[in-house]
Amino acid sequence: MIERTDRQSLINLLSSCGFSLKKGLGQNFLISDDIPEKIARSCVGENTGVIEIGPGAGILTRSLSRRAKKVVAFEVDRSLEKVLSKTLDGFDNVEIIFEDVLKADLKAVVQRLKTECSEVVIAANLPYYITSPIIMEILEKELDISSVTVMVQKEAAQRLCAAVPSKNAGAVSVAVNYYTVPKILFDVDRSKFLPQPNVDSAVIRLDILAQPPVKICDRDYFFKVVQAAFCYRRKTALNSISAHLNLDKSRVARAIEKAGAGINCRAQELTLEQFADISKLLKEE
Ligand code: SAM
Repeated sequence: MIERTDRQSLINLLSSCGFSLKKGLGQNFLISDDIPEKIARSCVGENTGVIEIGPGAGILTRSLSRRAKKVVAFEVDRSLEKVLSKTLDGFDNVEIIFEDVLKADLKAVVQRLKTECSEVVIAANLPYYITSPIIMEILEKELDISSVTVMVQKEAAQRLCAAVPSKNAGAVSVAVNYYTVPKILFDVDRSKFLPQPNVDSAVIRLDILAQPPVKICDRDYFFKVVQAAFCYRRKTALNSISAHLNLDKSRVARAIEKAGAGINCRAQELTLEQFADISKLLKEE
């Protein structure tokens, strides 16, 4: 058990358990007591059930556990078992599942937590190599959760939380703004991690919307059109959509104009409503 989470005590703990950090799994562990507390404070109430992704050495898990009713954490690296049994000794409301979160049945876990908690949230210091796939997986599953609070690289935070339309917007920001109200909560300096990464991070919170802000006729086709529009960022949306989806240019141009946008606009200038209209028109024609 470590009392304070500083660099040396974490190094000592990991080596006493014979554990070596794996860069390939995005293992940059927090060496701070304040940041985990701030994350937990921003998303957990006393009746909250938390799903944590990637507990690592359990530093964030402990802060979540102190505030939450129950924490279920998914960790892909079973060799962390010994470390976690030490850091989480006495934290009786924590359950660790050694499984890849992308293969897990999150719906079933949410349902189970809902039987004893008034709300369920997701919290994580995400492995940076799969930030977007994990967030997309969570959003597309339309889980019965209130929010997703995650630490990601600063640049990813800006892209994920970018307004639509805006110059920073990308396909992932359209998805985030379709399902949630996103917000950057605070920045985290690179010195707060072991090993220290080359970039700073930020904590973001995505509050899940009860209803999407626009009506779409076919969700898969809507996101296919969004992906296609952002595929070649330097091209116009017209050229990018027609090239990527192999559609006749005049047909795409008609849809863009009918949606009230200019045919020379780029994807980052389109609103959610315009994406919805363009995909509907292309699907119908
Ligand atoms: N939560 C810890 C902290 O803040 O110190 C560790 C965060 S570290 C950035 C990311 C963690 O996610 C690592 O423990 C890594 O093994 C785990 N991980 C990586 N890929 C995963 C996956 N697909 N499913 C579950 N856990 C994963």
